[in-house]
Amino acid sequence: MDQKEHKKGDIQERTNQFRVALLIILFLVVGIRLVDIFIYPDTDILPTGFILAIVMIQLFLLWVDSIKEKQHLVWLQKEKENLNSMKSKFLIMTSHELMTPITVIKSYLEMLSTKMLGEVTPQQKEAFGIMSKYIRRLEKIQDTLTKMETGAMPDLKKQMEEISVETIVKNTANDLLPFIKKRNQHLEVQVEEDIPAVMMEKNGIRQVIANLLLNAIRFTPDDGKIIVRTTDGGDNVRVEIEDNGIGIPEDKLNSIFESFYEVQDTATEHSSGSIEFKSGGVGLGLSIAKNIIDIHKGKIWAESEENKFSRFIFTLPK
Ligand code: ADP
Repeated sequence: MDQKEHKKGDIQERTNQFRVALLIILFLVVGIRLVDIFIYPDTDILPTGFILAIVMIQLFLLWVDSIKEKQHLVWLQKEKENLNSMKSKFLIMTSHELMTPITVIKSYLEMLSTKMLGEVTPQQKEAFGIMSKYIRRLEKIQDTLTKMETGAMPDLKKQMEEISVETIVKNTANDLLPFIKKRNQHLEVQVEEDIPAVMMEKNGIRQVIANLLLNAIRFTPDDGKIIVRTTDGGDNVRVEIEDNGIGIPEDKLNSIFESFYEVQDTATEHSSGSIEFKSGGVGLGLSIAKNIIDIHKGKIWAESEENKFSRFIFTLPK
């Protein structure tokens, strides 16, 4: 749809350029003819009148086209606003709907881990602990979604503290190791020495790294390789998450950071939220990550070559 619109726009622009060029030529011809008529008063004025009529018609058509184009732009702007408002409503609804299941799971987990529902083996206890940790994170995501749409996200600023990026990167990578193992992928964590601590809201940055890592796991086939690199970028600290998976088309590298944007229809591949190859969420992971990095006054972008690699880079100012 987008490409069709672009093509249509290109053709229209070229047609307009051609018409303007034609008008300039016709103007020149009319000018020469008028000079002719002035010098030789008995020259037939009918052809000049005819060309002048064509010029007038062309001018009129150009004017009509420009009005149509303006109306189309206004319509497009309205459509965009409608879409954004629908997205916001959907976000608020989703985060609201998430609240009940989270609360129910949380209370059952609590009952299980406090042995209210019977004896628990040490392994089960450990598993409940991990589940509780992720439920708490889910709760935070749900809370962030609500704040994001109600404009309260800048609250993160108040919770900033000086923290080593290395610790956050290593801990998050460690948390996701079971998924990487399950997919038989290989993870390499490269951290440059002596990187200074930076101001950050640690849960937000952990969420950014987790979102990027989970995407790398999902969009890389089994046996693939994922590298997490942390380097000193001079006036910032730079984190890169690279995979050798399916990659992203060049013209989609910016759009993927928009809410609900997905390059491929993941709904037809695997269940949402899983870590299977090409499984997907709802296209929110990267937009949440961008929001968090924006609040930190950092930058986030993607580089890729289809079927070769994807690299997501974010920076945090020192
Ligand atoms: P989702 O939760 O649906 O994956 P995201 O916002 O995290 O949404 O990502 C948006 C889209 O960007 C994905 O659906 C996918 O098409 C593309 N994408 C993100 N990360 C990668 C990656 N590492 N490799 C290939 N495609 C990716």
